[in-house]
Amino acid sequence: MIMNTDACWGCGKKTPKMGFYCKSCRAKTEKKEKEWIAATLLNDETSTDEEMTAYFMFEGNMSRIKALFYVKQRNRALQEGMDFTLKPYSKSR
Ligand SMILES: [Zn+2]
Repeated sequence: MIMNTDACWGCGKKTPKMGFYCKSCRAKTEKKEKEWIAATLLNDETSTDEEMTAYFMFEGNMSRIKALFYVKQRNRALQEGMDFTLKPYSKSR
């Protein structure tokens, strides 16, 4: 009778089939992903956009469209800080 459920990749709980994670683990994963994206963008000022896009697609397992979306915000982010992180960015200037 568990034909229609899958173990969540995060907590291992049996959840209705809807992806790899249950709802709460998915929210956590997205938060972690955004923090990783922000850290990667802000720490790497030498990669070209194309290299960065490829890196996100490979390491972050994301689609090209999604990777490009973040990479395109890099220049602005380096100047003004990220506005798509979940942590509030402190404006010191
Ligand atoms: Zn879970």
